[in-house]
Amino acid sequence: MSKGNRAQALELKLADLEVRLAGVTKDITKTLSSDFAEQATERENDDVLEEIARETQVSIQQLKTALRRLGDDRYGICASCGEKISEGRLDAIPETTHCVSCAA
Ligand SMILES: [Zn+2]
Repeated sequence: MSKGNRAQALELKLADLEVRLAGVTKDITKTLSSDFAEQATERENDDVLEEIARETQVSIQQLKTALRRLGDDRYGICASCGEKISEGRLDAIPETTHCVSCAA
């Protein structure tokens, strides 16, 4: 895959996650119901949503890092051992910064 295609794939994934994060965040800030039993359920839902929001934020950061590395021509190079990361691995996890052996 060319560098331009990689950047495009990363940008698309990033845009998708930002939309998801905005949606999740919007759901969390909903006002609680006046019913106490309902409130407990809503709080549990909020905990799940907050967890999803955290994970999404981590993925967004990883994608931004990958885009920065792409700009610096460090993309596809393992951050630990300096070896090339295989194309197949980059296809599967475009935001990865480590080769298979270092990630293990
Ligand atoms: Zn490595």
